[in-house]
This record gives sequence, structure tokens and C-alpha cells, in this order.
Amino acid sequence: MPEKIRINSPNVRYTEQYIESQYSYHTSTVSADGDTYTVTPNTTEFTFCTVRTVPKLGVMLVGWGGNNGSTVTAAALANKLGLTWRTKTGIKVNANYYGSLLEASTVSLGSGPKGEVFVPFRDLLPMVHPNDIVFDGWDISSMDLGSAMERAQVLDWSLQEKLRPHMSPLRPRPSIYIPEFIAANQKQRADNVLIGSKAEQVEQIRRDIRDFKEKSGVEKVIVLWTANTERFCDVVLGGNDTAENLLATIQAGGEVSPSTLFAVASIMEGCAYINGSPQNTFVPGAVELAIQRGVFIGGDDFKSGQTKLKSVLVDFLVSAGIKPTSIVSYNHLGNNDGMNLSAPRQFRSKEISKSNVVDDMVLSNPVLYGPGEKPDHCVVIKYVPYVGDSKRAMDEYTSEIMMGGTNTIALHNTCEDSLLASPIILDLVILTELCQRITFCTRDSEFQSFHSVLSLLSYLCKAPLMPEGAPVVNAFFRQRACIENIMRACLGLPPQNHMQLEHKMK
Ligand code: NAD
Repeated sequence: MPEKIRINSPNVRYTEQYIESQYSYHTSTVSADGDTYTVTPNTTEFTFCTVRTVPKLGVMLVGWGGNNGSTVTAAALANKLGLTWRTKTGIKVNANYYGSLLEASTVSLGSGPKGEVFVPFRDLLPMVHPNDIVFDGWDISSMDLGSAMERAQVLDWSLQEKLRPHMSPLRPRPSIYIPEFIAANQKQRADNVLIGSKAEQVEQIRRDIRDFKEKSGVEKVIVLWTANTERFCDVVLGGNDTAENLLATIQAGGEVSPSTLFAVASIMEGCAYINGSPQNTFVPGAVELAIQRGVFIGGDDFKSGQTKLKSVLVDFLVSAGIKPTSIVSYNHLGNNDGMNLSAPRQFRSKEISKSNVVDDMVLSNPVLYGPGEKPDHCVVIKYVPYVGDSKRAMDEYTSEIMMGGTNTIALHNTCEDSLLASPIILDLVILTELCQRITFCTRDSEFQSFHSVLSLLSYLCKAPLMPEGAPVVNAFFRQRACIENIMRACLGLPPQNHMQLEHKMK
């Protein structure tokens, strides 16, 4: 498929297979002498190379029969089939991908004869279209996807009726179930589980991946965990601290969570693995295994609602010179995820994942915050069955303003959880797939891929997984700019600067 955007520059070369760009990367190093800083600009010349052919992509979801799994599958099908339906107000809705960074948001290309030209993010580089993704997956519940969609109570009934004939033939594969990792209240749906030792179950998951690839004809598979939140796993010296120890622990049947077993199976099959839940799936041994095998891993925990807003609002407050002193977040939700999170150890995983989201923004402003100073930050989650998937999030942000004044912002957010998470799932897999086709080098280095820990996915994750030593960025617009500017680099375009100097001259 020819690209919608063609770059007219001596720095960009199109071959049959690649888009190759020359890119000057500008950074600055800072040294301090007392109160004085010396800033030295640096320029490194990079070559970026992007494979133009988009493969047929298969996505295997762990927790396929859950609210997110069934909703994302249904949404992609509804879009592919071009479905329309009426809501109770009689308004006709067309299937769409609202909420997807790549499909429904735009970027500016520059100025045209009629002003600034915006295009969908997806047009920047050749990318998989979500309509073309083939879904498969596992669930501890044997319910077919048609019934799972009904159980989820997310989509309008008339849409469900149109989708059911397409969804009902889809059945999740039996999965790894270790009851102690998720809440006891999930036991009643566990009727589709693998038996055998941990090593045998990992082998079965690997066979499933190969089987899916063979039967569906997809060229590439990405595995994504959207199953229930597990409790945290202890990091044990000699147990899961290195790749070798982790593999030995699996062979010996020691403690390894289902999500880590899936990660290992996926990495061994050379398939990228993304964690959409908060637990510490990526124990050091799993990270090392991914690095050794050159496979992408990403996570953790979809950034869909309350945390997304927090990473916008605190970014706004702190960068406006206003000092948040207390952030209190209440949630109540009534879906199966909420029921699972009503158990203390699973709630704890979510609490940890939600807790560090403001840290980088606070650290960025030593005018407002002294060393070690942070706003009070409290997160509460309650299970209220009646509200179903329609999660309520209530937040109070109290900030100190000029001359001892106080500013309080209270927010009430009703968000249909799975309809926020589904486009994020699509963005995660499409971005990951794109990154698998990008390589880059400097004048003194060989072509290489991004680091196995794919931090480019941070924008979509509550607790971004970073390569060791790399700073965590939670601030929403910095994360978005990172994706946009790396894609622009692949096209030999400078970072978006918003200076508009041409309109500031006399
Ligand atoms: P859900 O409970 O509806 O779905 C989870 C599914 O996973 C269920 O069908 C369950 O049977 C299955 N499951 C549990 N353990 C499994 C295992 N070991 N193997 C295979 N399947 C297993 O939950 P959901 O609303 O779809 O959310 C899924 C996950 O995404 C949760 O962990 C949630 O915290 C996380 N998440 C969701 C959102 C959001 O929806 N907005 C945001 C951030 C994170």
C-alpha cells in the first residue's frame, strides 16, 4: 500500500523495501558549578530505516473472554463490517475507533495553502490497520466470545445482535490458572484450565501460538495480557532474578505467576509480550530473557481513565507553577475486574501501579517542591456491582497557589471502562508492530532495534516499564510528543516545535 505521506527532502530515500532517513538528533548536556549551569548543545547524526511492508498481524489476548477482550474483538469486527446501529435515543452510531491515538487523533504536518494540515497519526508511517488484525487467545472461562460480549454488558444490545453470529464461533483456548494469584471470587469462572506441570503448560502455550499462526496464516503474533490483575510476586534471589534462574524455577515447578509464564512462552516464541495489568509480570529474569532473545516487552497496566487524566492535570498544574499538595482518587466499579480488585492483594497491585504517576512531574519542579517533598496521594477502589463496566472516578486535587492561597479542583468522571481500554489495546499492538520494523544507527554504530523494554509504549501505560537506568516519564504530553517525534525522525522531519515563527514576524 503506498504511503499517504511522501517526504520531499534529500534526507529521505524511498527504496522498494524501506524508508531511510537521515536525522540530526539535538540534545544538551548540563554541568553545574554552584548555582551556575553550563549547557552544551550536542548533535548526533542518525539514520532511521523503516520497513514499508505491513505484515498480517495476529493478536493473542490472555483473558480474551473478559470485558476488554470481548469488547476489543467486537469493536474491530464492527469496524471491519462497517456496522451501524441505533442507541436508545434513536441516534445512529457508526462503528469507530474513538480513543485510539493512532486511528482517531491527528498530527500536524506543516502549513498548506489553506493553513495548517492535520492528518491522522496512522498516516505518518506504514502501520497495521486494526480492521485487519486477527484475534485469538486464552481464558480460564470457556464462554464463547458471543456470550462473553453479552456477559460484559458493554455494547448496545442491537449491536450485540448484529455481532453475535461473528463472535459466537470464537472460543478461548484453555489457560494457565494458579488460583492463589487472582482473587478467590474468580474461581467459579475457571472451567477452561490447563493441567500438567508449569513447564508443560508453558510448552502448551507455545504450541498454541504456533497453531494460531499456522491456521490463521498471520505473519506475526503479539501476545497481550488483559486477564485479571494478579497479586505481586516476590523477587527471589536464585528464583526469578535471572533468565536462567527463572527457567530453572519453571522446570522445578516453583513459584511463577501465570502472567510471567505467558511472558516466558511468548518470548521463547519470539513474540512481543505486553502487560495490560498492574502486577509485576516482568520480574528481572523475564526482562533478561527478553533482552537475551531480542524480543519486545511492554507495560504495565493500561492508562485509560483516572490515571490518564492525572498525568494530564498534574502536568498542567506543575508546569503552570501551581503546587498540588493533595491528590485523592476514589473509584467504584461493578465489572468482574472490580470484583477481582475487591480482594486486598489484587487491590494492592493496582494501588502500587497508580501511586507513582505524579513523581516525574513533581521532581521536575524544584521551585515548588523541596528535596523528597511530594503531594499526599491516596487511591481508593470499591466494588459496586450495580454500575457494571461504567466506572466512576472521583478526584480531588488541592493545590497551593500564590501567597498562601488554595485551589481545589473536584472531578467526577463516568467512563465506560472497556470502551476506553479497547482502543489502547489496539494502539499498543500496532505501535509495537511498527517498532519491530524500525532500525536505526549513528555514524559509529551498527543498525539496531529499540531496546527490548519498549518504553515508547509509556503513553498507553500507567506504570511504564523502562530499560534499567532510564528515567520514567508519566507526563502525558511529553509521552505523546515522544511517539510523534520518533515517527517524524523516521521521516527525516525535525521534532514538532510549535514555535510558529513565520506568524510572529512583522
Ligand atoms: P475482566 O475480569 O472482565 O476480564 C479478565 C478475563 O481474564 C476474565 O474473562 C477471566 O476469566 C480471565 N482470566 C483470569 N485469569 C486468567 C488467566 N490466568 N488466563 C487467562 N484468562 C484469565 O476484566 P477487564 O475489565 O477486561 O480488565 C482486564 C484487565 O485489564 C484487569 O487486570 C484490569 O485491571 C486491567 N485494566 C483495565 C482497564 C480498563 O478496563 N479501563 C484499565 C487498566 C487496566
